[in-house]
Amino acid sequence: MKKKQDNTQDIVEFMSYLNDKNPNEPEFQQAVKEVVEVLIPFINENPKYQNNKILERMTEPERIITFRVAWVDDSRNIQINRGYRIELNSAIGPYKGGLRFHPSVNQSILKFLGFEQVLKNALTGLPLGGGKGGSDFNPKEKSDNEIMTFCQAFMSELYRHIGHNTDIPAGDIGVGSKEIGYLFGQYKKLKNEFTGSLTGKSPGWGGSLIRTQATGYGNIYFVQNMLDTINEVLDNKTVVISGSGNVAQYTAEKALQSDAKVLTMSDSSGYIYIDGGLTTEILEFILDLKNNKRGRIKEVANKFKNVKFFADEKPWKVKADIVLPCATQNELDVEDAKIIVSNKTICISEGANMPCTIDAVNEFQKAKILFSPGKASNAGGVVVSGLEMVQNSVRYSWTSETVEEKLMEIMNNIHDLCVEYGTLKDGYIDYVKGSNIAGFVKVADAMIAQGVV
Ligand code: NDP
Repeated sequence: MKKKQDNTQDIVEFMSYLNDKNPNEPEFQQAVKEVVEVLIPFINENPKYQNNKILERMTEPERIITFRVAWVDDSRNIQINRGYRIELNSAIGPYKGGLRFHPSVNQSILKFLGFEQVLKNALTGLPLGGGKGGSDFNPKEKSDNEIMTFCQAFMSELYRHIGHNTDIPAGDIGVGSKEIGYLFGQYKKLKNEFTGSLTGKSPGWGGSLIRTQATGYGNIYFVQNMLDTINEVLDNKTVVISGSGNVAQYTAEKALQSDAKVLTMSDSSGYIYIDGGLTTEILEFILDLKNNKRGRIKEVANKFKNVKFFADEKPWKVKADIVLPCATQNELDVEDAKIIVSNKTICISEGANMPCTIDAVNEFQKAKILFSPGKASNAGGVVVSGLEMVQNSVRYSWTSETVEEKLMEIMNNIHDLCVEYGTLKDGYIDYVKGSNIAGFVKVADAMIAQGVV
């Protein structure tokens, strides 16, 4: 790209190049667009990145692996799913990123997640490259035996491509500690070695304490940092959370511990409004419902009088000081954003990956509301995964206090990087700009040092 007065032209040209190369991949195109809108003006000021075609190389995965996963269900029917592992970038460390099991999984979604992961992992300061994988397998309404059988079939191919020095997958939507257990067991059997080839393991056999809580806790530490910049605190603030999976659960738990009032949680069938705010009793019920019984969020309203269920609705209309989307991509659009702005919300922090559309983000930033993209605020999960790798390497386990302290320190560092690279002339902190540039510089410098590979 040549240096031009008008960055807009370069952005259009780059996106047209990217879209032509990656047709029918709307999520990947969206994730790259959000990043290049910030990076192209920066690159135009820093020619070394232009001359090395860094953006073109970063948006081309180093390797894409797709494979057949054939398995037999409980009724003896043969089932066929598609498995993926996309290894995006290994400039600063082995590929690292989760596995997602959900019927919507396709190459576009995994490329978007992997691309985000590269920048996110760079922000943590840990030596981690970026990747993502998964399958269009739907774990809902499957028996334990079917989930185990699927995980074993999936790993029977994946094991060739991963390893503690090569590529270290973790969980994501549909892949929790149970699935990681089955995947790890099969990996160990096939390789005949006990290594940290996956993270998110249970603490009794190589996992790190606080890994389960890490993404949600990290999200709230990040919110505390953001609020600090406007001399606000979490105490007594009302909070809207979407989702009721891993990220939402521990975002809610830490918000509760910080004396905030959590008003909503949700799943793909609707949301619950908790009059008076979430309590430990309600949260424990939700954890048991979602983690042990695979139940629906509606059941919380059946159990508690002060909880109301709204079928097929999202919680964005509920007025709150803080909004934390923690379910899935593109769950909050521009119309929702307008409502949130008119509700005088002061802070939005993404617990999920890309839950807000580009137009929604623009709406928040136009209103100068604190807004953090997932690659900064949900980095806690990969941070503790990185710490799990360290513990596995030295065959030692830290206490939960030690892990939480390190998590908090790294989340604070990520916030500092966003402030350093993202503070605008008027003092507004553009976390999208800050996180993208800080992550990019680290990866780009390593790529330049390592030559054209
Ligand atoms: P879980 O599978 O534990 O939970 C996902 C939650 O999102 C569930 O409540 C689910 O509802 C809901 N959901 C999923 N798909 C949809 C949809 N299409 N519409 C509405 N709701 C939906 O996943 P996680 O909590 O682990 O992940 C949530 C998000 O956070 C994802 O974007 C993930 O990539 C991101 N993330 C996760 C990390 C982690 O450590 N787990 C780390 C960093 C980011 P239902 O049960 O009805 O499907």
